[in-house]
Amino acid sequence: MDINKDELAKIIDEVVKALDDNVCERNSESAGDYGVFKTMDQAIAAAEKAQTELQTNFSVQEREVLIKAMREEIKKHVEKMAKMSVEETGMGRPEDKVVKITLATDKTPGTEDLRTEAYSGRDGLSILEEAPFGVICSVTPSTNPAPTIINNSISMIASCNSVVFNPHPVAKGVSQYAMKQLNKAIINAGGPANLLTAVEKPTLQTVEECMHDDRVTMLVVTGGHGVVKAALSSGKKAIGAGAGNPPVLVDDTVDIAKAASDIVKGSSIDNNVLCTSEKAIVALDSIADQLIDCMEAENAQFVDNPKAIENIVINEDGTVNKEYIGKDASYILESAGIKPKNKDVRLAIIDVDIDHPIVRKEQLMPVLPLVRAKNFEEAMEMGVKIENKNRHSAIIHSKNVDHLTAFAKKIGTTIYVKNAPSYAGLGAGGEGFSSFTIAGPTGEGITSARTFTRKRRCILVDGFSII
Ligand code: NAD
Repeated sequence: MDINKDELAKIIDEVVKALDDNVCERNSESAGDYGVFKTMDQAIAAAEKAQTELQTNFSVQEREVLIKAMREEIKKHVEKMAKMSVEETGMGRPEDKVVKITLATDKTPGTEDLRTEAYSGRDGLSILEEAPFGVICSVTPSTNPAPTIINNSISMIASCNSVVFNPHPVAKGVSQYAMKQLNKAIINAGGPANLLTAVEKPTLQTVEECMHDDRVTMLVVTGGHGVVKAALSSGKKAIGAGAGNPPVLVDDTVDIAKAASDIVKGSSIDNNVLCTSEKAIVALDSIADQLIDCMEAENAQFVDNPKAIENIVINEDGTVNKEYIGKDASYILESAGIKPKNKDVRLAIIDVDIDHPIVRKEQLMPVLPLVRAKNFEEAMEMGVKIENKNRHSAIIHSKNVDHLTAFAKKIGTTIYVKNAPSYAGLGAGGEGFSSFTIAGPTGEGITSARTFTRKRRCILVDGFSII
């Protein structure tokens, strides 16, 4: 029988689809819809069962096989998730979402992150191992929906937990899509169904239900102050990855064009929705004008009427106008009655005082205020004021080692980036692994598999020590 290329491709497609449907059918009863359930009770029950199976039947090496499959599968969906994310939430830029999703997929550590410690001596041998917590309730944000789901899934499964996700309702479509692809990869690699679960319709009530369920043993919340507070009041082990307001200091020792380029890149990525992105510049007065000129050369736009921007992005009660979070700079400028210099302008810059609301609020928009300082001492004080004890992130551009060290000590942030765009602190163009759950308030810092473990000690007296 003669068969041409197109017919062959059609047959292959049909066979692949039939196989896929078959896997789906085999798992439909136990897997919900690849981890999505009608009720929170079902989502938690399924995650509990899956965690028991993982812990009982899968070695560390076998868990790593599942993680490899998760990474490989998710890579097929990066562009789609990036597009879905912008369409669903109305925030960010698809090309920048691609960077963030790829970073989470490639640079979140797996089981290699786990450590066993040993103590040996006259009395024998003790080992200290990192054991799973069990079922984790993970609350995820609207600003980085897919990267947070991917990052937490890899870290939490590497440490042998299962996860009940509570995605932000405005990002539930893309969050559930990412979770389903990960579950599909786990099942196809021979792993348990439902290691990752969620409810079909997440609400604040379902988060509450999940946080207070006895089967859930750890809470990991990635979001603003409200949800961190709710988790910390739950009476359970809680890891809080909260809001930030990263200042970026620029002194007079730097290559100003390079500092300007780094700041525009770091602050404008995904329209500034990253909690780690530069949110306010503190520049020495002596170089501030030159810095603004160099930022304009990097496709930022200086706006000499800050009031026009303030009027639209800050509400009358002083809160941030959510309508503009993560929107393009050109849209914000046009809405403020200012002509954008081009449709792809990355950032609007305004020159204001330290107490301006756009400086003091975490506004999550491509609007970057600049504040002038007389000297480096004053710049540091302003930086500390802007960061507001969030213990989150700060950036500095300086070639003076004393300045680099002094501000690090004063600001006390979890991430401190020197002479690079802020995202170097997430492992993009900087050394180290990546994480989208940065636990400042509770102190775990850049989270990874070992963060989601509890320490267990196992002792053998009078044996196994060979010294
Ligand atoms: P958000 O706080 O509005 O929502 C985060 C999640 O918490 C959502 O799932 C939401 O439904 C839930 N939630 C909100 N209030 C709650 C409450 N009182 N009780 C229970 N659940 C509640 O945040 P968002 O707008 O999605 O994300 C942006 C915020 O998250 C910013 O402040 C940003 O800095 C922060 N963030 C921090 C990190 C980090 O790693 N530290 C990472 C991403 C985002």
